[in-house]
Amino acid sequence: MKARLVTDIRAQEAQPGDIAYHAYPDGKPGGYAYCCPGCGQEDWLNIDDGTHGWTWNGNVEAPTLRPSILHRSCNWHGYLTDGEFSPC
Ligand SMILES: [Zn+2]
Repeated sequence: MKARLVTDIRAQEAQPGDIAYHAYPDGKPGGYAYCCPGCGQEDWLNIDDGTHGWTWNGNVEAPTLRPSILHRSCNWHGYLTDGEFSPC
């Protein structure tokens, strides 16, 4: 499922697989809000050096985040690689 970059993850037309990038005012990467590819619920992926959050490839439109993503509400588990959600 291709991750669609949107500005407002809470827009009415939001759909599973949507992502919205957020940076701090100083430009430092913050993370991505996303609509879970499995259940459509909104959640948040925090970007850092991988210590507490996810590492990021720096590409806003085609992000690669590591490690994998687990959405606990529905148990969707997979990867976001080059802007593509893939379950595993
Ligand atoms: Zn989910």
